[in-house]
Amino acid sequence: MNATRSRFLDHCRQGLDTLRAEGRYREFARLEREADRFPVYRHEGRDVIVWSSNDYLGMGRHPSVIAAGQEALAAHGAGAGGTRNISGTSPLIAALEEELATLHGMEAALLFGSGYVANQAAISTILTSLPGFHVFSDAKNHASMIAGMRGLPGVTRHIFRHNDVAHLEALLASVPADAPKLIAFESVYSMDGDVAPIGAICDLAERFGAMTYLDEVHAVGLYGETGGGISERDGLAHRLDLIEGTLAKGFGVVGGYVAARAEVVDHIRSNASGLIFTTALPPATVASALASVRHVKGDGALRGRLAAQARLLKAKLDAAGIARLPSESHIVPVLVGEAEACRAVARRLLAEFAIYATPINYPTVPRGGERLRLCATPFHAEAMMDALVVALRSVLPRAALSRAA
Ligand SMILES: *Cc1c(COP(=O)(O)O)cnc(C)c1O
Repeated sequence: MNATRSRFLDHCRQGLDTLRAEGRYREFARLEREADRFPVYRHEGRDVIVWSSNDYLGMGRHPSVIAAGQEALAAHGAGAGGTRNISGTSPLIAALEEELATLHGMEAALLFGSGYVANQAAISTILTSLPGFHVFSDAKNHASMIAGMRGLPGVTRHIFRHNDVAHLEALLASVPADAPKLIAFESVYSMDGDVAPIGAICDLAERFGAMTYLDEVHAVGLYGETGGGISERDGLAHRLDLIEGTLAKGFGVVGGYVAARAEVVDHIRSNASGLIFTTALPPATVASALASVRHVKGDGALRGRLAAQARLLKAKLDAAGIARLPSESHIVPVLVGEAEACRAVARRLLAEFAIYATPINYPTVPRGGERLRLCATPFHAEAMMDALVVALRSVLPRAALSRAA
């Protein structure tokens, strides 16, 4: 009998029981994508249409992205073989970093294993570089940014109300003028689909002598003339200190990065544990990501199709009286408002209509904000949208239907 183990096992069982009782137990649906039929997936022996993919442009199945990965796999083998520090850096990684720096008009970029690691590693490295850093974090920031700013000795964290510039200003004014400061926020917020007032936040950063760190994960590839995100679209990239992005969503592959001034990138490269002590991304992945970034940069029409799809889906939901949050982006949240109801809606969509949409519950969103988060990629046909609307009308609780259609 081991006392710690039995206490821990009790703790696990009780915690899991609580999750189940509250309808928050996470089930990972088995969904197998069929590359040439996207957004049709195989689920338990049948076809389902997926509305919850973050591969917003379908680049993960693009023939040039697949071919680049296949060639690199054959030419260079499966794994990177070690950390960049010990086993060397593939020229593919250097080329990808150059491409990403250019995408954001920055001097340099640094590749990480994922967007999560990029945020955690870059933010924690910055905040521990000067004594007495104050970080100002939007209340809806992603878990990966929070992971980079919590529990650091000597670092004070201030949380400003979501997109609330006046609250941010008050917090900035409350700390000593000469203290080092970092403002960390997102451009497109992943659960609501709303957009940050980037220019106003940059104005405050200048007034109070703060640096800025912008997570553009849900915007890179999707907004701006060349897919540089909201900061490119609004002509603000040059005012930001760091831009962070992912290769997993709009670019459809995997990996994360930060782009910034050369010495900032070099400093993070030289100090970030999450970069130095982990194996580099494999050549095939990097080659696919590079092919994707190069393609997406030049394909404004694809970006245009994503925007048109979002407008069409929103219009169809509105016409059917389906309540949705007022998103300004391609992310279309449909509010259900209660964890068990939200899961029941998703279950029925799948069982009765062969439609997959992930229920988003607490703690990803606040209690009462439970929702389905939908995105129509350029590959979702209009008939699929119409079928989705019919299905939602039939399975959503009455309260989620604002009007009779
Ligand atoms: C998904 C996400 C990340 C993490 O990116 P990955 O590449 O998936 O690790 C970071 N920030 C935000 C806002 C995200 O939604």
